[in-house]
Amino acid sequence: MKTAAVRGFRDILPEESALWQMLVTQARTSFAAYGFSEIIVPILEKTDLFARAIGETTDIVEKEMYTFPDRDESSLTLRPEGTASVIRAYIEHSLHQKEPVSKLFYIGPMFRRERPQKGRYRQFHQIGAEILGRDDPLIDAELLLMLHDFFVALQLEVTLDINSLGCPTCRPGYREQLRAFGESKLAALCEDCHSRLNRNPLRLLDCKKDGCRQATAQAPALADSLCDPCRTHFTSVQERLRQEQVRIVVNPRLVRGLDYYCRTSFEILAEGLGSQNAVCGGGRYDGLVEQLGGPAIPGIGFAIGVERLAMLIQAQNRDFATPPEVFIAPLGAAAEHQAFAVARRLRSSGYRVELESGGRGLKAQMRRADKLAARHVLILGEDELAAGKGTVRDMQTKTDRPMSVDLSLATPDLMNAIRNAGN
Ligand SMILES: [Zn+2]
Ligand SMILES: [Zn+2]
Repeated sequence: MKTAAVRGFRDILPEESALWQMLVTQARTSFAAYGFSEIIVPILEKTDLFARAIGETTDIVEKEMYTFPDRDESSLTLRPEGTASVIRAYIEHSLHQKEPVSKLFYIGPMFRRERPQKGRYRQFHQIGAEILGRDDPLIDAELLLMLHDFFVALQLEVTLDINSLGCPTCRPGYREQLRAFGESKLAALCEDCHSRLNRNPLRLLDCKKDGCRQATAQAPALADSLCDPCRTHFTSVQERLRQEQVRIVVNPRLVRGLDYYCRTSFEILAEGLGSQNAVCGGGRYDGLVEQLGGPAIPGIGFAIGVERLAMLIQAQNRDFATPPEVFIAPLGAAAEHQAFAVARRLRSSGYRVELESGGRGLKAQMRRADKLAARHVLILGEDELAAGKGTVRDMQTKTDRPMSVDLSLATPDLMNAIRNAGN
């Protein structure tokens, strides 16, 4: 009997992992340009961390986490997101005492026991970043510019939705306004919204059901209730982005559930992902570090869904394969011996080389080279080798060119000789 992967978990095979490598490399490049460093945190944390960071009454913590008792009965959880671990590490290592501002990014798997569907897995991956130690509008704009640059570098057309969630001064009043508004529309709202009304009226605004969206179309907007400092902050973030020609859409329905979220909140949306079209979400969370037992230090961050990002890139039909530069085709046992040495030398200098067994005929080897999309084939026959000769087939032009195979050549010269054979 075969054993299959766990439901909602999957393998990323080489044809797809090449694309992933490209994404991750681009993220590292784009983020480094803005002064970010990578932080690598554990996949497993104490359950309590997520209950405190994400909220006990959220769907993630109530229904979706992989939580289990360790052998000593303490409760452990496979991380459902990255921010909580980053903040935990930030506090645990007192990073705020070493640097006034920390810019950190992470890349890795997260785990949520949701219903698997297209593009959604129970083990999924995120590329995320956090800035801790600054709360001015300039840094919010910088983070969004970095994201913008990243998506441009990936040649993806995206929309940046932003909103301001206000602060503990101005949001409570708005929350009450919205609650009163919701009460007046009770009959038109769904079951979920009924319970949201008491727990967290802001969530009325992001209900996806048509009835609720219609009922809340005329709801008061948070933008009209912002206090002066929040209004100035929000205006300034938008100005910085427009100054850099970043297209933004102010979306009053962009809200988040928890109290520590404040001010700048954003989502990056892309066509081609169906109804769940957000590929990145994030925002400011000035109360979170303190809530997790650290000092009162402001923060802002985002997480990008790698599976969704990969789907967008796959739709472009770009090729990320890295075919061999040289395919060495030895003919006969003695040639195989020398081919082995040539392959080893080129590879140890970083050239991508594929080597066939000398027992196979030339035709079969050529078919294999074609399949691998090798750029050049170096054919080594025994008689020719004895005379210090080989043949290079240019696989693009399909022409054969003789070359002298001088095995005493330095490796880069040997590679150049292969590339320029016959010239
Ligand atoms: Zn405010
Ligand atoms: Zn609803």
